[in-house]
Amino acid sequence: MSDLPSISRLLADEAATLDLGEAWSSRLNAPLVIYLEGDLGAGKTTLTRGILRGLGHRGPVKSPTYAIVESYPLKPFTLHHFDLYRFTTPEEWEDAGLDELFSANSVCLIEWPQQGGEFTPPADITATLTHDGDGRKCLLTAHTERGRESLPL
Ligand code: ADP
Ligand code: MG
Repeated sequence: MSDLPSISRLLADEAATLDLGEAWSSRLNAPLVIYLEGDLGAGKTTLTRGILRGLGHRGPVKSPTYAIVESYPLKPFTLHHFDLYRFTTPEEWEDAGLDELFSANSVCLIEWPQQGGEFTPPADITATLTHDGDGRKCLLTAHTERGRESLPL
């Protein structure tokens, strides 16, 4: 049994996922590493879209599946949104020079973090999205004190 601090939310539709991201965004401060777990189509990119919306980003939010990372310089910090789905080996982490994006001024959200093997920095929070009927369930689990302070209320 784990007694890590966690929060669970039922998300009936896409708007609810966006709303959770938007509500969560005001609790985020750099530096922070967030793993986004869940199958293809679980809503990881949608949640990120909601967070960016909450932080005032008004442009498009592309899935970084092909680019590996999309970066958004925002007022409070730079948000880096990674998707490691297409990695064939964890060494691609080094080839892409991703370490330098993890700084005191960055909040990093990582889809398919396990694809980076031991190169992926440890998470402050894991967001796990699962299908639940036509909707989704989102479980946020904090692994560090910084993560606990960043959970939505
Ligand atoms: P992932 O990044 O996990 O592969 P996406 O966020 O790209 O998933 O897409 C998930 C799909 O599910 C999108 O079509 C989105 O509109 C939809 N979706 C997101 N959240 C919900 C929800 N709470 N209920 C139903 N559909 C959702
Ligand atoms: Mg995605």
